[in-house]
Amino acid sequence: MSRIAYVNGRYLPHAEAGVHIEDRGYQFADGVYEVCGVRDGKLMDETLHLERLQRSLRELRIGMPVPLPALRHILRETIRQNRISNGMVYFQVTRGVAPRDHPFPKDARPSLVVTAKRLNEGRIAAAVASGVEVITVPDRRWARRDIKSIALLPNILAKQAAREAGAYEAWLVDADGFVTEGSSTNAWIVDREGRLVTRPAGPDILNGITRRVLLEAARREGIEVVERPFTPEEAKSAREAFISASSAIIIPVIRIDGQPVGNAVPGSTTLRLREAYSRVGELS
Ligand code: PLP
Repeated sequence: MSRIAYVNGRYLPHAEAGVHIEDRGYQFADGVYEVCGVRDGKLMDETLHLERLQRSLRELRIGMPVPLPALRHILRETIRQNRISNGMVYFQVTRGVAPRDHPFPKDARPSLVVTAKRLNEGRIAAAVASGVEVITVPDRRWARRDIKSIALLPNILAKQAAREAGAYEAWLVDADGFVTEGSSTNAWIVDREGRLVTRPAGPDILNGITRRVLLEAARREGIEVVERPFTPEEAKSAREAFISASSAIIIPVIRIDGQPVGNAVPGSTTLRLREAYSRVGELS
């Protein structure tokens, strides 16, 4: 079955789907996106993802491409047409098509592209079972990482460095020597006292939807949470470490820059949180 994409009002086979060459997303990465998990045919944490999309758009003064109820419908229709029960829906909004010029165009209409794909469940299950390795690299991104911008070059370079080092993810380290987050995940440790530690939300990181749900899940589980920065050195001597994102929820980290974390096996708090995540449901 060929995959179907939604592009500015039309559902098209991927091979025929495309945007104008002067779309500002293509020319300038002038746009934002969201990735929402689909489990048993349902969108996970949909409201939180839509709220974050609207916030990203507001921060960049890009309009909504369609009213919110229409967007909710398009997401469902894309999932339905692609027959996804477990997977992800990707949606991207750009400032639209206009002759290439840096200032905002006067009357461009925002562009909307939606795609959906199945989850590689085998790969995720294997990563959860064995745990993964991360490397640390300098964080070379801009100062507004709270906006889910489609401009991802530093993230791509970091992820590629990880792959070339045989690692799953790269943790980005700021100028003060603290981990901000992963190239496409939030970063967490369980410290020597059993407290869950992750960097506070703010302009330095993307406030992951999974991150937010996990913080709530941890509190409900009675796990103490501290939102503060940590260094790679602290992470290497922590009890546990893991990464979070909508695609795989939680993946245990067992090695950082080649050094084992704890006994180099997925930690018990990590696995407990993974379980707890599904019980929290949608926050709103
Ligand atoms: N941090 C970055 C830089 C990301 O790109 C992502 C997801 O794409 C995340 C964190 C995790 O966010 P979420 O849990 O909303 O998927």
